[in-house]
Amino acid sequence: MSRERRLTTVTVFCGSRDGVRASYRAAAAAFGAAMARRGLDLVYGGAQNGLMGAVADAVVSGGRKVIGVIPAGLDRVEFAHPKLTERIDVDTMHARKAVMAERGDAFVALPGGFGTMDELFEALTWRQLAMHDKPLGLLDVDEYYRPLVAFLDVAVKEGFAPARVRELLVVESDPDVLLTRLEERS
Ligand code: AMP
Repeated sequence: MSRERRLTTVTVFCGSRDGVRASYRAAAAAFGAAMARRGLDLVYGGAQNGLMGAVADAVVSGGRKVIGVIPAGLDRVEFAHPKLTERIDVDTMHARKAVMAERGDAFVALPGGFGTMDELFEALTWRQLAMHDKPLGLLDVDEYYRPLVAFLDVAVKEGFAPARVRELLVVESDPDVLLTRLEERS
């Protein structure tokens, strides 16, 4: 590609819960630490709870910026992370996703629930429609996303999704390997 863009800010989608395995939170912290070591800033949903808080804590501890995009109604003080470098208040969930998409140079989903999946698939769909050209990654922890990735392959095989779009989603279990591959695609 001819674009002159370097990866400096990563938009992360992940669980507002911790999940049942300690490895999920540990992986989120490891991913945030890897981001900070590479000098990457974080854009995310701004919460303190769950894996969202674990990533943000690690990025802040590593000395990088953390930008939280918080919609009205979800801004209950107990949920907003207290160490945000920048807090962006928006009116709606749609506005939040638009700002999160705009401010990052790449998208990464860590383990999470319906909210995470909604955000991941919107970013993938927008890429399919050429509404952005940013790389997309999935951090698979303890094979959490294995059934989802298998289903994506089913969708391609059954003719409902283009293989070239499926291939845009980089799936790795190691944070540094994933970030290196996204940097190569930036
Ligand atoms: P989920 O995977 O269902 O826990 O949803 C997490 C994703 O949805 C995050 O990437 C956020 O952008 C958004 N989200 C869900 N719940 C919250 C919350 N309490 N505070 C901030 N963002 C949230």
